[in-house]
Amino acid sequence: MKRLLPTSTAGSLPKPSWLAEPETLWSPWKLQGDELIDGKQDALRLSLHEQQLAGIDIVSDGEQTRQHFVTTFIEHLDGVDFEKRETVKIRDRYDASVPTVVGAVSRQKPVFVDDARFLREQTRQPIKWALPGPMTMIDTLYDAHYKSREKLAWEFARILNQEARELEAAGVDIIQFDEPAFNVFFDEVNDWGVATLEKAIEGLKCETAVHICYGYGIQANTDWKKTLGSEWRQYEEAFPKLQASSIDMVSLECHNSHVPMDLIELIRGKKVMVGAIDVATHTIESPEEVANTLRQALQFVDADKLYPCTNCGMAPLPRQVARGKLRALSAGTEIVRNELA
Ligand SMILES: [Zn+2]
Repeated sequence: MKRLLPTSTAGSLPKPSWLAEPETLWSPWKLQGDELIDGKQDALRLSLHEQQLAGIDIVSDGEQTRQHFVTTFIEHLDGVDFEKRETVKIRDRYDASVPTVVGAVSRQKPVFVDDARFLREQTRQPIKWALPGPMTMIDTLYDAHYKSREKLAWEFARILNQEARELEAAGVDIIQFDEPAFNVFFDEVNDWGVATLEKAIEGLKCETAVHICYGYGIQANTDWKKTLGSEWRQYEEAFPKLQASSIDMVSLECHNSHVPMDLIELIRGKKVMVGAIDVATHTIESPEEVANTLRQALQFVDADKLYPCTNCGMAPLPRQVARGKLRALSAGTEIVRNELA
């Protein structure tokens, strides 16, 4: 990528109201059968178009074909019973009714590869594709089979690697694994979390990224953040291991957070997707606010390794807010590009 400070998003973008209920997580589809297939593809085209209009450099599908960033992937796997549900605490934070692992997990056929190929056909820009990370997957399930978080994580890592290799073959430039759980289960991250992530990217030649955030702007996350104090040092726990890992890029929450920017120093050498857009507020950042966050990050990451990004996905936001935030990200980045030129 020759462009300085290439912009991208963490992943999800709002869906059109004719496809799914707006501003809702796990929003049910409004279409069925072939109409749903067409509708998802049309929404993907729209989402791509909005990213392009906003001047985003590394584009994605906006997760238009998925109901949720974790569960949609799991739905396609054998060994998980979606009828058999249990209530678990996700990321030690909020209760959710989740499916149950009832047998050996496996992937009979590709999950997102056709969607990725469709996106690839629509643009020559670099494309990024998000998959859930192994630790975040196990945290969104009830396990009645392996009875071991680590064992199940290794199984998912193996499955994710199969999917990732096919996404790479479909022309995806960056494969990103979403691991918000890395900000919560520090002992597990260091014992086997980063190792399972490396298993998931084994053998890939495309670029690989891990996204670690403080979650969507939903109430449970906002309440949790209030308990974290004035300095959020969670990244400090996983960064040393990530710095030594084979992952190429790390996607972080920075803007409006209480994350001390100097923690980025701990992953020196990695490419850093700096979150310069807050997804927990409807207020649209000014370009100058975005530029300020990027300038602060530039103290700890070399300019050729800085990728301006959003803090997290924007699926729960109103469309016009997400659109405004994408434009602010581009405009703020342009200010800093000119300063660096
Ligand atoms: Zn996130």
